[in-house]
Formats: sequence, structure tokens, C-alpha cells
Amino acid sequence: MRFWRVVLSILGVCGLAQGIKSESSLQTQRIVIAASVVLDGKGGVLHDSRIVVEDSKIVAIDPKALPVDYDLRGLTVLPGWIDAHVHIAWSFGKDGKNGSPGGAPEEVAYQVASNAWVTLMAGFTTVQSVGSPADLPLRDAIREGLLPGPRILTAVETLTGRGEQTGTPDEIRAFVRKQKDAGADLIKIFANYSVRRPEMMISQEQLNAACDEARKQGLRTLVHAYKDAVRAATLAGCTEIEHGVLATDDDLKLMAEKGTYLDPQAGVVWENYLANKEKFVGTPGFPNSLEGFAGMQSLIPIYHEFMRRAMKIEGLKIVFGTDALAGAHGRNAEEFIDRVRDVGIDPMEAMVSANSLGARALGMADQIGSIAPGLQADIIALDGDPLKDITAVRRVVFVMKGGVVYKNVGRGAIPVNACVQP
Ligand SMILES: [Zn+2]
Repeated sequence: MRFWRVVLSILGVCGLAQGIKSESSLQTQRIVIAASVVLDGKGGVLHDSRIVVEDSKIVAIDPKALPVDYDLRGLTVLPGWIDAHVHIAWSFGKDGKNGSPGGAPEEVAYQVASNAWVTLMAGFTTVQSVGSPADLPLRDAIREGLLPGPRILTAVETLTGRGEQTGTPDEIRAFVRKQKDAGADLIKIFANYSVRRPEMMISQEQLNAACDEARKQGLRTLVHAYKDAVRAATLAGCTEIEHGVLATDDDLKLMAEKGTYLDPQAGVVWENYLANKEKFVGTPGFPNSLEGFAGMQSLIPIYHEFMRRAMKIEGLKIVFGTDALAGAHGRNAEEFIDRVRDVGIDPMEAMVSANSLGARALGMADQIGSIAPGLQADIIALDGDPLKDITAVRRVVFVMKGGVVYKNVGRGAIPVNACVQP
């Protein structure tokens, strides 16, 4: 074991050496992380403290804990981020085009595994993928420790509103149960097409059936909804609204009253379409000409204005979700910058939206999203202070998930036990 830890250290992957140690050791592994600044994920800040991790969990916050294994002083330490809305399996195909399955299955599998890796390296330790049947083997491989990646929750197949053809309430209920049987962690519903075509494609009765059956099955519901569909999904008791643009202040107040989460977007999704328009043009759901993408630019201010309005609604729970798909995996944190710089969201609120609030929206607040004893040791560190300079979110230099260190490249942040101690 020592041999491999030394080899990995020479290769500059001390963290991996640590990871291998934890996976192969039968004894309890104890790790102490020293930090000068810890954002606790709930809006609090701890100074000059130490986080004690045993196996996969945080067991104590103890400023005197010894020996220190990872010295992260000078960095900002916080819980691993949660992205409420990604499409982890979506990639550019071999021909460079969006969604083109292109290559052989093994090539696609590597692409999907790579999406998971870059997402984890960017500091996202949990993502909700909404969804694709291809998420399932990836989720399970990561869960079993066979591949590195974020913890994945998936919707598997989505319920797409198609008017009457969506199905009778009974058929919709059967669809929900089928997803659960397939292994879904949540149900994703498309209530309408887009901000440009916001007419409802699913009735109130159909939505009621979907969200009620999901609740009975113990599953949450995420509804892709614009305009009137926001109110309809809220009335149906669905868990979370994705996008939400064109909802009125009254709709948003109703969401706040009913405790419905809102997951709006401030930019990454659009920036990515525009930056990669040659890869999206002519693929299903996208303009057939490059000129057609000009309209997207004009949508960005509409999303910003919507988020600014939503921020002002008392009690409305706004979570962090990027809609990361082909081209955007690993760049999820850009959404923080857009939210703070372009919309004016308070940086601490932005962090909490991807930590404890994000965890609550997943029904996992007792497991992830905070730095506290009893929770999973999902801990990241940034080179910089995101509260003063939000672009620090681009500089993730340390990533631990479930007590295993996957990245440790900060200045002076040498893992003592893996690389220095004799
Ligand atoms: Zn999406």
C-alpha cells in the first residue's frame, strides 16, 4: 500500500492515494482537515476550525483535533455543491453534434463517465439528472465506488405533456410507478415546451395525477414549467418548478406559500448553446440555422428579470440548478457567477442554494449540504473567497466526497499523511 501511495504522490495525485487507502482499509479511517474559513452550508461561517471525518462522515468540528491530514488554511472550505438540474448523460456525439448517439456503446459510456468526472472535479458532489435511462448504470457504478463522479439522482424517463396523448390520469399514474420500478429517484414532467411556446401541454387533472402518484410512491416531482404551468404545477402539489419564467408575482407567492421550490437559470444554459451553436444547430429542439440562435441572446435578460423578481418574493425557496447538458458539464459553477454578477443575488445566498437548501429540496438535508457532524463528508475548497469575488467558484482545489479525496491541488495543501509523513 505504501508503495502505491508513494507512486500516486509522485504522480501528483496524493488525493487518489488517500482514496485508495480508504477503500482498501478495513479499520476506521480518520481524517482531520484544518481550515481558516469554513462556510457551513447554512449561511454560517466558522473560523480557524478543524473538521474531523471518519470513513464517509463528518464526526466532529473540533478546532483542537490532531493530527492534521489536510491543511486547507488560506482557502475557503464549504460543503460540496448540489446541482438540482443536469443532464449528466447528454454529450456531443462522435460527429460533434448534440445528442447524436454516434459512436459505439463503449465510446458513449466513456463520454458519460467523463461528464461525471469533470462535474465532480468542478466541486459538485451531488447532481439531480432529469433524466435519461443512461443515467442508471452511471449512478449505480458511482454509488458502488467503481467510477468517480457525483452522487446522482435520476428521473430515468420523463413524462412529456402531449395534450390528451399524455394519457388518462390512470395511465399517468402507471407511468410514474413504472419509473419507480425502473429505479427513478424522482419524476420529471414537461408541462410546456419553452418560454417561446408556453401554452400548456398537460392539463391540471393530468398534473394532479402525476404529482399525487409520485408523492404516494415517495418520489419528488420536478416540473419544467413556464407561465400558467407554474401555478398549475404548484396547485398540483409538485415539489419543484424548473425554469418558471413568465410566472406572475402571484404565482410565485403561491409557490412560497405552498413551499414549492423554484429552480430558475441565470445563464450557463444559454451561454453554452451560444458558445457551441455549431454543435446544436439542426439537432432536435434547436434552430436550423446559426442565425436562429440570435434569438437566444435576447432571452437571457428575460431570465435575469424573472430571477430578480423571484428573489424579492418573501419565503420563496430558490435552489441552484444549471440545466448542464452537452458542453456544460464541469462548468456548472459559472451559474453562480451569472446569478451574483448579472442578477444581483447575494453570494452567501448563492452558496446556500447549492448546499443546505439544495439538500432540503432533494429531501436529503440529513445527509448532505452542510458541514456538521453526522453528515456525509462532502467537502470542497476554493482558492479565494466567493463572498468577495464570486469567480473563486472557478478555482476548486480540493474535492472530498463521502470521505474520499478526489482532488487536492491547492497551494500548500499537501495531504500530510499521504505525501509528507514518513
Ligand atoms: Zn433540462
